[in-house]
Amino acid sequence: MSSRAPVIWWIRRDLRLCDNPALTAAVNSGAPVLPVYILDEQDEALGAAPKFRLGLGLEHFAQQLAKAGSRLILRRGKALEVLQDLIAETGAGAVHWSRHYDPQAITRDSEIKQQLKEQGVEVKSHGGRLLFEPWTVETKAGGMYKVYTPFWKAVRSRDVDSLLPAPGNLAAPDSWPASEDLADWHMGAAMRRGADVVARYCRLGEAAAQARLEAFLEDSVEDYKARRDYPAEDATSGLSENLAWGEISPHRMWHQGSAAMERGGKGAEHFLKEIVWREFAYHLMYNSPRILTKSWREEWQEFPWSEKITPQVQAWQRGQTGYGFVDAAMRELYVTGKMHNRARMIVASFLTKHLMTHWKIGMDWFADTLVDWDPASNALGWQWVAGSGPDAAPFFRVFNPSGQLDKFDPEGAYTGRWIAEGQDKPPQTALDFFDAAPLSWGLAAGMPPAEPVVSLQAGRDRALTAYHEARENR
Ligand code: FAD
Repeated sequence: MSSRAPVIWWIRRDLRLCDNPALTAAVNSGAPVLPVYILDEQDEALGAAPKFRLGLGLEHFAQQLAKAGSRLILRRGKALEVLQDLIAETGAGAVHWSRHYDPQAITRDSEIKQQLKEQGVEVKSHGGRLLFEPWTVETKAGGMYKVYTPFWKAVRSRDVDSLLPAPGNLAAPDSWPASEDLADWHMGAAMRRGADVVARYCRLGEAAAQARLEAFLEDSVEDYKARRDYPAEDATSGLSENLAWGEISPHRMWHQGSAAMERGGKGAEHFLKEIVWREFAYHLMYNSPRILTKSWREEWQEFPWSEKITPQVQAWQRGQTGYGFVDAAMRELYVTGKMHNRARMIVASFLTKHLMTHWKIGMDWFADTLVDWDPASNALGWQWVAGSGPDAAPFFRVFNPSGQLDKFDPEGAYTGRWIAEGQDKPPQTALDFFDAAPLSWGLAAGMPPAEPVVSLQAGRDRALTAYHEARENR
């Protein structure tokens, strides 16, 4: 216990003790540390699955802090007001936090910084979420990168900050301010009956994330480049969920991945390249935040995508399109809160091309259902597939879900894992879907297989006709 004024460590999406610059700075100040999580309007507006996953992450992290002799203080409200209240209650002299890069967070944080500084409180924001702060990477001409490969070449040899150790015990303040009860926040309320199912598939916390990274680098990275496109295989790190909530730092993934590369792990460089796709997504979002809301390429603003939730779009959301790859992927998403990267590309192509539906509809569905939801990677992923984004796949590249299945799931292992219909003894994964799905969808194990919602040829032809007409009219 100490009688000195505490420093507030405002925890956001950085639920870890290791390699956390904001925490290290708070500890190095020598003052007692007050870890605080604020459920503000931006968190209240999270989609069902991210909010639920945040709740699980907070519960886990509170236990981790307790083991380090500390406590997680939970407060709900406008972040500035909550911080001001806490400062008044505890006499805290400083606030530290990890930076976020989406426009809403930047506006909120800038205002808080200014107001608290005017009150005489020391305020410091820190990196830690990204390997490279977005404003530190510039083209030779001084602008942002719009294409991935030159971005990769610009950063691949840069120095990446070394890992910071976790502090030992966190010095506790003399007395703890009151905390709200996490259970009262009802973080899983919007999950309806699916929450218990999804929880079984979550990997929670820093220790589990680090163990997974080690296992992946030991067992799978060698074949990563060759196997990462096969959705039935456990060939990727699966760490996006932990990265999203800051339970692991990209720096740890980078340093351990680089060490694996130096040991000769063939796939390790490719793994580093994927981590840099995430950096690229943040670079784009920071420099051109319109990627979150509008077609990034101006000429795509007028593209005649439908923005209606038609019965076909509902069938897509519910894994009922009649196409195995799409339906398996959409069910995997609903049950686990995650989806394999190739499957994300296929379902996004199906929605934006075969169903001629705006990428924003798909992006919003993912924002509601992914436990690894990340604003930058989600927006880039959707606009990349739709053809409207920077460095995007051309629109005329229409994935054929049946052909993709032959190529990437030749034995039907992925579809078998997620689609119960047509199987005598479906696996638990496939049955879990019926427990996760809302009752209002009216789905049940044993129902007949879904009929195709569109013919692949007709859907493709319609999309390509719209594309050619749009080009002619530009
Ligand atoms: P690994 O293959 O192990 O890769 C390691 C890390 O690199 C990942 O954890 C991730 O942080 C990063 N990474 C890999 N691929 C990409 C990529 N294409 N773009 C950006 N970063 C990447 N990723 C999210 O984290 N959140 C999202 O909301 C999200 N939405 C997406 C939407 C669409 C339409 C598409 C096509 C992709 C989206 N992605 C998103 C990117 C990618 O699908 C996931 O990051 C990846 O599937 C995570 O699995 P993993 O951790 O096993 O990845």
